Amino acid sequence: MTKFEELGLNGEILRGVRDLGFEEAFPIQEAVIPVLLTGRDVVGQAHTGSGKTAAFSLSMLQEIRPKNGIQGLIMAPTRELAMQITDEIKKFGRHTGIRVATVYGGQGMRIQLDALERGVEIVVATPGRLIDHLKRGSIDLRDVTHIVLDEADTMLDMGFIDDIQFILDLAPEERVMSLFSATMPAEILRLSEEYLKNPKQFLLDADDLSGEGIDQSFLVIKDRDKVRYLIDFVKQAKGQCIVFCSTKYRTRDVQRFLHRERFGAVAIEGDMSQHRREQSMAKFRSGKADILVATDVASRGIDVPRVGLVINYDVPNQEMAYFHRIGRTARAGAKGRAITFVSYSSVGDWNVIKRQIKVPIKDLNAEMGIEISIPDPLKREMPSRRFGGQPRGGRSGGYKRGEGGRSGGGGGRQDSRGNRRRRNDRDGGSGNRGYGSNRNRYGGRSRW
Ligand code: ADP
Ligand code: MG
Repeated sequence: MTKFEELGLNGEILRGVRDLGFEEAFPIQEAVIPVLLTGRDVVGQAHTGSGKTAAFSLSMLQEIRPKNGIQGLIMAPTRELAMQITDEIKKFGRHTGIRVATVYGGQGMRIQLDALERGVEIVVATPGRLIDHLKRGSIDLRDVTHIVLDEADTMLDMGFIDDIQFILDLAPEERVMSLFSATMPAEILRLSEEYLKNPKQFLLDADDLSGEGIDQSFLVIKDRDKVRYLIDFVKQAKGQCIVFCSTKYRTRDVQRFLHRERFGAVAIEGDMSQHRREQSMAKFRSGKADILVATDVASRGIDVPRVGLVINYDVPNQEMAYFHRIGRTARAGAKGRAITFVSYSSVGDWNVIKRQIKVPIKDLNAEMGIEISIPDPLKREMPSRRFGGQPRGGRSGGYKRGEGGRSGGGGGRQDSRGNRRRRNDRDGGSGNRGYGSNRNRYGGRSRW
């Protein structure tokens, strides 16, 4: 292990790092920081919770001069992640005089305009709102020298790529750019070559996505039995717990159910107002709520160190999402547990994911003596997840809307630029895994 002092960082930054109690640099930090400091582009892949934020932030802080315009730009897929990155950079940079602003949808423009008018050197943004600012001239990228795409495989996915292209076209050619994610599929690596110049690649755990220190298990049960088992597992949880559901409706219903059962549970999903999203995250981060029930909006990047258990209430629709979801526990070398509930209709989806898990995974049916009785084996061959992950006609205890699987009427929302957005069928549980279809694998813009 290397000390931060050996990485070429200056005294002000080292003080910030020391204030946080970081003693030694994590492997991705040790690898990436010196290279970014030489001005070379980087692709950084390392496990969830292994310190990628500091890897890109510390080198960026060192290269940026206060009061010299926006020089650093970090883009992330969700508002909550953008805010988290900002908070972390503020802590690292507190002795540097460098100012950071977060730019994201759902928050009033005025607050962001005020911050930008006061002057900032680093902007952390979600792409849609950043484009709004670029179009109205409240952000200008001409002084930008450092660009980071966090959760880069999502950012270069079809749902975001046009926005990213638009933004990068407005930034100077001369720039240091880096991409980070725990998952870096080969097609994303190929695509990255279009955006990076001779990047140095650090693929630290590319052959084993399954996070270290996570005790993984699965339980095949009827969809309607999930609530009962959820309560059992949540009661045994050490630390806080995140419960991931496949749709916005199910997220809300499960949260309400837990709340009625007197658990301190909050929810986050993409149809909630930004105010309520922030309230939920604040309660969860502060420990006032023990359980966060979430769609995949919370599957990437969110760092809450006390999370000891992740429950996949529904099998994720996309393999990579599994690794990101379970990676919300076992942060920074801690231990954690992940349990996946597999309804009968999701067995096929689950098998696809399970094949990619390289570490032993516990079969709770065997351990707890719970029999699986899938009535018609042909159901395994059914196009998966057509009904929001629930068996056809199945009704879960107390759930009225879950199985419909459609994310409510309307179909499509106005985005902040007045364009009609494609309704996300993935949240609606319509069963698009992306294979052989011309849809992108995340199912469009309003994906969470
Ligand atoms: P990743 O982006 O790789 O998923 P994060 O950057 O969110 O991981 O970091 C995970 C956690 O590890 C955070 O709580 C962060 O503060 C902590 N952390 C990062 N680097 C170090 C370090 N060198 N020593 C101790 N803790 C660290
Ligand atoms: Mg991260």
